[in-house]
Amino acid sequence: MTDLGAKVEQFLREQHPPTPFVVIDLDHVEDRYHQLAKAIPGAITYYAVKANPAQPILERLSALGSSFDVASPGEIDMCLSIGIDPQRISYGNTIKKRRDIAYAHSVGVTKFTVDSMEELIKVSDAAPGASVCVRLLHDCGGADWPLSRKFGCEAPDVVRLLVAATAMGMRCGVSFHVGSQQRDLDAWDNTLERVAWVFEQARSQGANPTFLNLGGGYPGTYREESPTIDAYGRAVTTALARWFPDGLDEIMVEPGRYMVADAGVLRTEVVLVSRRSPEDFERWVYLDCGKFHGLAETMDEAIRYRIRTPHDDAGGPTGAVCIAGPTCDSADVLYEKSAYEMPLALTEGDMVDVLSAGAYTTTYSSVGFNGFPPLRDYYV
Ligand SMILES: *Cc1c(COP(=O)(O)O)cnc(C)c1O
Repeated sequence: MTDLGAKVEQFLREQHPPTPFVVIDLDHVEDRYHQLAKAIPGAITYYAVKANPAQPILERLSALGSSFDVASPGEIDMCLSIGIDPQRISYGNTIKKRRDIAYAHSVGVTKFTVDSMEELIKVSDAAPGASVCVRLLHDCGGADWPLSRKFGCEAPDVVRLLVAATAMGMRCGVSFHVGSQQRDLDAWDNTLERVAWVFEQARSQGANPTFLNLGGGYPGTYREESPTIDAYGRAVTTALARWFPDGLDEIMVEPGRYMVADAGVLRTEVVLVSRRSPEDFERWVYLDCGKFHGLAETMDEAIRYRIRTPHDDAGGPTGAVCIAGPTCDSADVLYEKSAYEMPLALTEGDMVDVLSAGAYTTTYSSVGFNGFPPLRDYYV
């Protein structure tokens, strides 16, 4: 079931840094870059830096010719510090301080995303000559980690903003995000139908949207299965051909999770396996890594990681467990309702591996809550 790659397995065998830590295979990231480019031909990849902003990842992707989606001046600086051309950076956060827009503009970033008139005016004021992407609201059904409501505006409002942007002399386009870990392949067709309507309306009102940003949503490999990347590619390209038969000047994709999740494994130590009462059927397994040490996406048990223990190959009996982190916060429970089972042989001191943990872990770790150090990360 688990194929971590030789380099990661070797690291785990030979290096024993203090847990918890993540180790990430850069060749795997590179492979994902090529896979996605093959699945959605012609689309320009903007790696969503927030998924994992580590310098070795940015360097590897930059060398491959990737562009980058950023959310803050901090992420812009990470990209610039390794020599990424600001023309290859898109400031995709729809919520930006005016001075941060001005900073981005001053260092040569020219692509900004908005979802309101207020933000459009900020960009037009603080970044003259910029091109602007208007984000369409999406309800994110079918996604394990939705990104709805907080971002995007309704289709008629997207039209209004495109028309306004054109009137302000800005180049414009449309973006959406179907929700992260989107496992419903129909999501793209449904959304592109609305996007096509937006393009038509905008054009009829004198605006000229030229580019389309398809966002992220491509999967990592977790407990519940997701379609293959080729199936995603077919869903997207079929929907594009259907709703944009004449093609588009420029198509962007913004993968985060897909690029880095499966490249990483998070190693954590079992602190305690307990039954609160001898009659208890369920055991509690406490790991030295919890919600505050990188596993934040277990919030509401949304992302259900695959977990490997040293006893799996022995094939012994397993039993129901609740899995929790090490801190004194009762929110620091990873799984209580998702029916996880672990070997009965599992015991204190065992090393447990959380698989596909390369995305949305390292920078989600607190800096020192309860005195526990932040998650370490290594790149091989
Ligand atoms: C987080 C984010 C992404 C990446 O999403 P994934 O589901 O991880 O691929 C892409 N675009 C924007 C604007 C984002 O905020």
